[in-house]
Amino acid sequence: MSRYPSARIDLAALQHNLQQVRRYAPASKIMAVIKADAYGHGVIEVAKALQQSDGFAVARLSEAIRLREQGLTLPITIFEGVSSREEWQLVATHALTPVIHQQCHLDNLLEADLSQPIPFVWLMLETGMHRLGLPAEQVNQLISQLGQKIHLVNALGLMSHFANSDLYHDTRNQQQLSAMQRLAEQTGLPVCMANSAAIINLPESHYDWVRPGLMLYGASPFADKTGFELGLQPVMQLVSQLIAVQQLQPGDQVGYGGQWTADKPIRMGVVSIGYGDGYSRHLSNQAEVLICNHRVPVIGRVSMDTVCINLDSCPQAQLGDEVIIWGTHELAVEWLAEKAGTIPYELLTCVMPRVQREYLHG
Ligand SMILES: *Cc1c(COP(=O)(O)O)cnc(C)c1O
Repeated sequence: MSRYPSARIDLAALQHNLQQVRRYAPASKIMAVIKADAYGHGVIEVAKALQQSDGFAVARLSEAIRLREQGLTLPITIFEGVSSREEWQLVATHALTPVIHQQCHLDNLLEADLSQPIPFVWLMLETGMHRLGLPAEQVNQLISQLGQKIHLVNALGLMSHFANSDLYHDTRNQQQLSAMQRLAEQTGLPVCMANSAAIINLPESHYDWVRPGLMLYGASPFADKTGFELGLQPVMQLVSQLIAVQQLQPGDQVGYGGQWTADKPIRMGVVSIGYGDGYSRHLSNQAEVLICNHRVPVIGRVSMDTVCINLDSCPQAQLGDEVIIWGTHELAVEWLAEKAGTIPYELLTCVMPRVQREYLHG
């Protein structure tokens, strides 16, 4: 293995998780969400491993064009949409599937003189999230505006996004679902609503297309459940190496700010990973790592390139030993996220480019 931190990406686990999505939502098509470099896993390799899905989704036009340039031909939805006539032409050229969530996006489309039609457009409607979405009352008007340019857009669907689908009994979920159900009945158009949490928790929301992100990568969207309990397998295993060992005496302080003090003689280790790799500084004095099959605590502050660990319970640990940072059932990224006061989405997407990705079972 390399001396520096690396992220092992298990493509067989990714495919297993895609099959799990099919089990949860057997009647729906799957739009695999691979925005933000596939949640830090490497978008091209992940997309190539997910060709059994029915389409992809990214946040931005540049992400979608990059996938087309790499030869990926499945439909690609662009959540943030496109806002100029030039961008609409790029959408047409690359046969992409944008979301329209602002009236000006639609106006630009209607004014564009496209060289070829666009295969599919999603109307993003406001049902209660209050982020991206057009007023649901305007749906008929929007559809008829698009209908004037039927030669520009081959097909149309409705999209909306849950605010609280990770909360089991939140009343807002039912309100958003009822709003979407009315729109679906009123228009008869295909609907796409469910993210990972809704795929697992709200089967009524599956409709024609589902949009899993986090669950594909094997992590749980729920605070009280692990991916393992949901039948998912972690895709990323972040590992590094023990690069130094020191003997500390009582009273010795570890690292910047002296945030940890030895109360007895201990053996301390230094692991080559830090916030410059995406290992959150909020894990200072909070996290644990796995070394020689032992969970040992992180002590002191996380530095840019290194983190210190207490090796007292693991005397057999030696220089050069592999250290698992996250990504096993014993040390899940969900647990670390909780320790850092954040969510697994953030820890995964913050793994920096200098961390080498190694693809397994490709
Ligand atoms: C990121 C995103 C998703 C995927 O959400 P997960 O919780 O990761 O499954 C689905 N829909 C939209 C609009 C998103 O932005």
